[in-house]
Amino acid sequence: MSKQNRVGIMGGTFDPIHYGHLVTAEAARTYFNLDEVIFTPAGNPPHKKNYTVTPAEHRYLMTALAINSNPFFKVSRVEIDRTGYTYTIDTLRYFAREYEKDTSLFFISGADAVLDILTWKDVQEVLNMCTFIAATRPGYPMEKLKQKLQEIKKLYGKEVYPMEVTGMDISSTEIRRRVREKLSIKYLLPESVEMYIKKHGIYG
Ligand code: ATP
Ligand code: MG
Repeated sequence: MSKQNRVGIMGGTFDPIHYGHLVTAEAARTYFNLDEVIFTPAGNPPHKKNYTVTPAEHRYLMTALAINSNPFFKVSRVEIDRTGYTYTIDTLRYFAREYEKDTSLFFISGADAVLDILTWKDVQEVLNMCTFIAATRPGYPMEKLKQKLQEIKKLYGKEVYPMEVTGMDISSTEIRRRVREKLSIKYLLPESVEMYIKKHGIYG
């Protein structure tokens, strides 16, 4: 019998990708013994209607640059090539089709994203299709996270696994603000991404 393939999916807008994302994905890879982690930059994220998201091609390329040094990390165009809003359920269905039967899917997200999970499209099916991992993030400590996960369990009968991650108080919002205000973004994200932002004049 062949070995179960364990595939992590790291969803996000990645506008831009930063060390918070990379550390979280690497933690999930090691804790959950994943064979690979696929970063899936969102095409047209339904929950980010209040600011203009950077064109998908830039976000895709920045993600590709950032993951280049990790042989277990990949990037997928599945969400950015889809028209209309992108939903996690469609992405999970895509990877379930794409991979063979003996593959388990893991969806990796930060605690803030999990706190919104009840508003997601087809939550029950999302939880049925994958092992859902919720990483701590500064401002979203383990205790608060665990309470929410209990609520999810009661409602959907599904376990979401909390994962403690070295606190990286970095957000894409903060990076965009720093670029706009001409402040340094060094050491918040890979140098290759920093150079890409500078070269293309992204974020002002
Ligand atoms: P924005 O400020 O634009 O919302 P972000 O930094 O939150 O950007 P996203 O692309 O929204 O980045 O996040 C993608 C996923 O990564 C989400 O599940 C989010 O919770 C998680 N994540 C982002 N930053 C961190 C961090 N510093 N630590 C842990 N998880 C993170
Ligand atoms: Mg976010």
